[in-house]
Amino acid sequence: MAKTLGPVKRKFAPWTDPNAVPFIRFENITKRYGDFTAVSNLNLDIYEREFFSLLGPSGCGKTTLMRMLAGFEEPTEGRILLQGHDISGVPPHRRPTNMMFQSYALFPHMSVEKNIAFGLEQDNLSKGEIAARVQEMLKLVKLEDFAKRKPGQLSGGQRQRVALARSLAKRPKVLLLDEPLGALDRKLREETQFELMDIQHTLGLTFLIVTHDQEEAMTVSDRIAVMDKGVIVQVDTPAEIYEAPNSRYVADFIGDINIMEGGIVSKSAEPGQAPVVTLDCDGLPVTVEQECAATTGDRVAFAIRPEKVRITLDQPENTASNAAYGEVWDIGYLGDFSVFLVSLADGRIIRAAQANVSRLVDRPITFGDMVWLTWPKDAGLVLTR
Ligand code: ATP
Repeated sequence: MAKTLGPVKRKFAPWTDPNAVPFIRFENITKRYGDFTAVSNLNLDIYEREFFSLLGPSGCGKTTLMRMLAGFEEPTEGRILLQGHDISGVPPHRRPTNMMFQSYALFPHMSVEKNIAFGLEQDNLSKGEIAARVQEMLKLVKLEDFAKRKPGQLSGGQRQRVALARSLAKRPKVLLLDEPLGALDRKLREETQFELMDIQHTLGLTFLIVTHDQEEAMTVSDRIAVMDKGVIVQVDTPAEIYEAPNSRYVADFIGDINIMEGGIVSKSAEPGQAPVVTLDCDGLPVTVEQECAATTGDRVAFAIRPEKVRITLDQPENTASNAAYGEVWDIGYLGDFSVFLVSLADGRIIRAAQANVSRLVDRPITFGDMVWLTWPKDAGLVLTR
């Protein structure tokens, strides 16, 4: 069946508008459990209609932050503002938020439609209103034909949609999704990510999602907050997080990257030309076109994504800088890409990824080959943190 697509998505970036008022504001939020600090003096603004992700390793405080917004936990210090109003002390059911749990928490003995209707019945809506809302939700998640089934008679993906329909039925302003796709296999996960984005866009709601899956966060989000040990390390669009991580931690957490420690040899800023930083990474000269706060002599890191490293058998013309020579030590064939692990004479490994644009099974570069790795000045970045 041909897929019907929703309206074309337009550029959406309220966070770049200095006059935009945040929909949700976390203001100096700290959460302690005994003497353990789960969230530490955190500030964050989320805008209306944003699809916002909290991303970070297990235990970094993502769920705690979300639970405070939902009202299941109160902050130890700080305030949470929703449309400018402090919501401390407001119980969960009186907040315009609803949370969809990873486990889905569906009632096994109730049909799909009864599961969706449950919260509406609790709110004493009329029978007619409930029936209309349930129909609307079944249509939204494309489960009209499954209304009478019980959760046990559904696939994992269908159960996930029932949970989504149930959490949207009460028309929350903010939907909180805790690892919403964790139980689905990869293919279904990818499809469902696009469906989630469509639903969010169609309904014009604000979605806050907690995930430790970086690909998922990159796919669905308008912006991502990367967390580490109770603090936010960077908040940016997926492209900025990937292309301009602000620290070794973020660079390393998102995607695959080569990171080499080094020292700044010189910096130049010729009028009318891009600023250039020259580094010495343990004998490897590297030139980077970048504005950089660090000064000559400072220890920094040079980071470059594998797909930005070119790999060739022939010696390139210019090898004075941004060039390394080594042996292909291993190759990871990923179908769409191959990743070459190249071992330099001093034992360092640099990863280079190449798109497999042709259907060749025997590739020209193979194990044991001596190869050149090169990259342009604007391909990598200097990390000072
Ligand atoms: P995960 O991805 O594993 O769910 P997370 O980033 O969502 O991790 P949180 O659930 O927010 O992490 O937990 C943050 C920290 O706070 C963890 O170290 C956790 O052990 C601790 N924590 C959470 N709830 C409590 C509690 N009720 N009592 C004590 N410590 C808690």
